[in-house]
Amino acid sequence: MPAEETSLNFIEEIIEQDLKNGKYKSIVTRFPPEPNGYLHIGHASSICLNFGLTKKFPGYTNLRFDDTNPMTEETEYVESIKEDVRWLGFEWKNERYASDYFDQLYEFALTLIQKGLAYVDDSSSEMIANRKGTPTEPGKESADRNRSVEENLDLFKRMKAGEFPDGSRTLRARIDMAHHNMLMRDPVLYRIKHAHHHRTGDKWCIYPMYDMAHGQSDSIENVTHSICTLEFVPHRELYDWLIKNLEIYPSHQYEFARRNINYTVTSKRKLLQLVNEKYVTGWDDPRMPTISGLRRRGFTPESIRDFCDRIGVAKRENLVDVGLLEFCVREHLNKVALRRMVVFDPVKVIITNYQENHNEKVKSENNPEDVSSGAREIPFGKEIYIERDDFMENPPKKYFRLAPGQMVRLKSAYIIKCDEVIKDAGGRISELHCSYLPDSHSGHDTSGVKVKGTLHWVSVNDAVEVEVREYDRLFKVEDPASEAGDFKDYINENSLKIVKGYAEPSLLSAALGEHFQFLRKGYYCLDKDSDNGKFIFNRTVTLKDVWAKEQQKTSVQK
Ligand code: ATP
Ligand code: MG
Repeated sequence: MPAEETSLNFIEEIIEQDLKNGKYKSIVTRFPPEPNGYLHIGHASSICLNFGLTKKFPGYTNLRFDDTNPMTEETEYVESIKEDVRWLGFEWKNERYASDYFDQLYEFALTLIQKGLAYVDDSSSEMIANRKGTPTEPGKESADRNRSVEENLDLFKRMKAGEFPDGSRTLRARIDMAHHNMLMRDPVLYRIKHAHHHRTGDKWCIYPMYDMAHGQSDSIENVTHSICTLEFVPHRELYDWLIKNLEIYPSHQYEFARRNINYTVTSKRKLLQLVNEKYVTGWDDPRMPTISGLRRRGFTPESIRDFCDRIGVAKRENLVDVGLLEFCVREHLNKVALRRMVVFDPVKVIITNYQENHNEKVKSENNPEDVSSGAREIPFGKEIYIERDDFMENPPKKYFRLAPGQMVRLKSAYIIKCDEVIKDAGGRISELHCSYLPDSHSGHDTSGVKVKGTLHWVSVNDAVEVEVREYDRLFKVEDPASEAGDFKDYINENSLKIVKGYAEPSLLSAALGEHFQFLRKGYYCLDKDSDNGKFIFNRTVTLKDVWAKEQQKTSVQK
């Protein structure tokens, strides 16, 4: 992995220069989500960047809801966004809303009209689009472009007063219909929309467009470095034009590449479709690339921040491998997850020379990577479960698990040897009869016997039945949004597999938010659907990258 943290990214370099040469003493950034959905892993990059900058350099970051579109925005989204930003480990200085500035933005619009730099156009949106021209041909001016300042003021005030229906008029900047940048060809600044807004209610029936709201909100908040994604590069000219002509605080816009990961979609609109059309159970379905989905799946804030650091800040778009995100969560969970034993596909082992009803408990470390995590006691017994695939009747060489006549260690307990294989009428193995070495107890083994394999196990009498939800990629292709047809045609129908597990009893006290490593299996966490003695665990990620291995195998076979 490249050591990204040691070198500055290009935005940090700009800021370091700005601070060095005295342009600023401290900086202000903002994270500006539109509250029209839940945050996803792409947003995490923007959050880590904006908040990270003001951790590294003097200054602060605002959380600003870009709520200028009354149709799609909801308070539920506002609350979830705040929860997710905090969960990721960041705290904003001020919570702001573009709608807080509607009065101020209206005043700005009046200023532009008075300066002859904006006019009310009676054209429909189709007419405006038709007269926009092409990158090589100039657009056509609207007949309303030369209205007097008085007439424009009167019409704009009446737009605000609700005298006109939706779409009948707009306020446009008066720039240049032949401008090489199409966005500068008299862009629309305000539109009429008789709609209820989640914060301002029915006070407004005109709403500012993105360009009229965003830069001005930045300026009102004295944002020094306004960071957005690359699709806004052409907007920068308009951003600067408005600030200059309004003679307000000069915020500056910088752009970086959107971060998207493979085998999923990162667009709130598409994610909303998955929710509404019930392809997933909700925004926090553990298969979703949303922050809330990742949290429920068992990802930690540390792992997501590490992922964002590692992919860094780029100037060119590329699809990031979800394998890297999984690598980051494995790295972190290895340090913090509590080790537990769960058998998924059990076969019963009877330890023939072990005392009946002995009630022995063995001690096992909670996490060998973290001595402070202590140890727990696990009941041992005459009858235990091991994984069916940890036994082979006719093993190949170098098979170190259980086989007839072969010995293995049961984790934190004894060495056992398989003496007899019992099968049912159908020829399926039903029991393994083993003997144990009483002097081989882990930690004080005096048996002198060395074995290579260690198996996880649970005592049959004490096993707790749990449900385990195993997740796979939500989509079958790397970039569903760029495939032909509907992105939903590429959904992986097998992205959820529900299996049973037999868990050691300490998992009865598992709590939401705790992370576990089920030995030799993967990382898991309790799901919120658990209740009334029903334990449901989500598989966060397998222990090793089985997927990459499978891929390798198939490509070798090919
Ligand atoms: P979506 O298409 O998912 O709705 P958006 O850009 O419209 O994305 P916003 O709520 O407007 O979503 O985004 C808030 C901030 O997060 C913006 O500054 C935006 O540039 C940034 N952002 C959104 N998606 C990504 C991404 N995939 N990678 C990096 N930054 C992103
Ligand atoms: Mg948006």
